[in-house]
Amino acid sequence: MDKDFEKLVKEAKKLALKRKLSEYASCGHVGCALLTKSGNIYTGICIDANCALGNCAEYAAIVEMLKNNESEIDKIVAYSAKGQIYAPCGRCRELIRMVNDKNLDTKVMVAENKIYKLKDLLPEIYITKIESICKKDIDIQKNKT
Ligand SMILES: [Zn+2]
Repeated sequence: MDKDFEKLVKEAKKLALKRKLSEYASCGHVGCALLTKSGNIYTGICIDANCALGNCAEYAAIVEMLKNNESEIDKIVAYSAKGQIYAPCGRCRELIRMVNDKNLDTKVMVAENKIYKLKDLLPEIYITKIESICKKDIDIQKNKT
């Protein structure tokens, strides 16, 4: 296995431990690790809650990455507490694509030693554009205000 993916799988696997939070919520059923183009690793876990405000592990890892003003993902993998690599859901595929145009080339591990570029997993892209919400928006792809 590619050394980077080996490390990402190891990180995601460490996080993939389902924890009961209450009668209504649990977390950690899935762990995710991603590697940015600049070489940093960010991780996340899922939250499953009956109030419908849960989120995927990929989403949580992307939020961690964005907190550090990065958005270009080189490689990403998610791992389930059931002991297997998980392919990202459709929403996360769209999210990966939307946070950086270059992420169509993100390498996504969907099963052991099975890796696709995001553009192969998402051939038809949902296209919508958001308007600038304030005058001081920061464009982190261009790294300027
Ligand atoms: Zn997802």
